[in-house]
Amino acid sequence: MSKEMNIEALSNWAKTDQRPLVIAGPCSAETEIQVMTTAHELKKINPGIIYRAGIWKPRTRPGSFEGIGEEGLLWLKKVKEETGLRTTTEVANAQHAELCLKHGVDILWIGARTTVNPFSVQEIADAIKGVDIPVLVKNPVNPDVQLWIGALERLNKNGITKLAAIHRGFNTFEPSIFRNSPQWELLIQLKSALPELPVICDPSHICGNREMIAYISQKALDLDVDGLMIETHIQPDLAWSDAKQQITPRALALLLEALTVRQAKSNDPVFTDKLKELREQIDRADEKLLYTLHERFKLSEQIGKYKKENKVTILQTSRWNEIQDKLNMQSDLLGFEKEWVNKLYSLIHEASIKKQNEIMNG
Ligand code: PEP
Ligand code: MN
Repeated sequence: MSKEMNIEALSNWAKTDQRPLVIAGPCSAETEIQVMTTAHELKKINPGIIYRAGIWKPRTRPGSFEGIGEEGLLWLKKVKEETGLRTTTEVANAQHAELCLKHGVDILWIGARTTVNPFSVQEIADAIKGVDIPVLVKNPVNPDVQLWIGALERLNKNGITKLAAIHRGFNTFEPSIFRNSPQWELLIQLKSALPELPVICDPSHICGNREMIAYISQKALDLDVDGLMIETHIQPDLAWSDAKQQITPRALALLLEALTVRQAKSNDPVFTDKLKELREQIDRADEKLLYTLHERFKLSEQIGKYKKENKVTILQTSRWNEIQDKLNMQSDLLGFEKEWVNKLYSLIHEASIKKQNEIMNG
């Protein structure tokens, strides 16, 4: 279904060919002076920056700062007029979206707590139906790629073609050093489902602290993301929301300078030839791997038949333990992580047992 999406290239609307595209600005718009000073500082670093500031803030518990509201949209307008930076803010319902259109916000983003709710996403999609405005969709808080794709589809069905995803990490039960676990494999799943979709990483909300932002930014670039959204505040410690994870414009400049932007493709013929050769070797290794698995399953089938003839049970725990001991030893020798090999083999073992079950009952 997602194959039918019509998504425009980032170059059609980013208005800069800088890689990565940078979206920066405070978590929340707090005061006019904070919004304007941050914007002027950012402009000095890079006039291609897109200026972010939350106007309506989704807070976990009531009572903390929930955003400055509509008044902040006037400040964003002033940012545009004075600095020329383009602006973006979070919308969580139709009214937010309508107010943003009214005040000339350039780009909308849908927050992680909104992406989880198809009713809210649909409401926003209906409010901006047919309007030519870019929309960035943050991943849902829970690790569900389909829900993320679903939100993009709802917008696309209503004529929004300037779309991008923002990867801001996921809530998980396992303890983590991150505020929101990056779960890179989900980003990779999204990219393979929608290869034409531009992707932006939000290291600020992944990390929840300042220290790891540079590391996560580099990691995201190495996975070929198109842009970074980084929360930036003139006095981070005094920020009214997300104080621990915001960095100063100067720290942002240093961080961006230190990043290594690698190309997804290279035109160097020596590199492309070598890569081609290595890929051919990988293809051959994959073929061998599949063939070896095929042989293993054939053997397991033979064992199944033999067990049936001799009226022996399928699962013999002692044999499975013996296989595991041997695998642990071999994993050590080959430098594989035992846990990974065990995972791989429980899949293989499960498939063998299934096959033998079919034989027994066939
Ligand atoms: C934000 O960008 O400030 C924000 C609230 O993000 P998220 O929706 O990713 O939590
Ligand atoms: Mn924030």
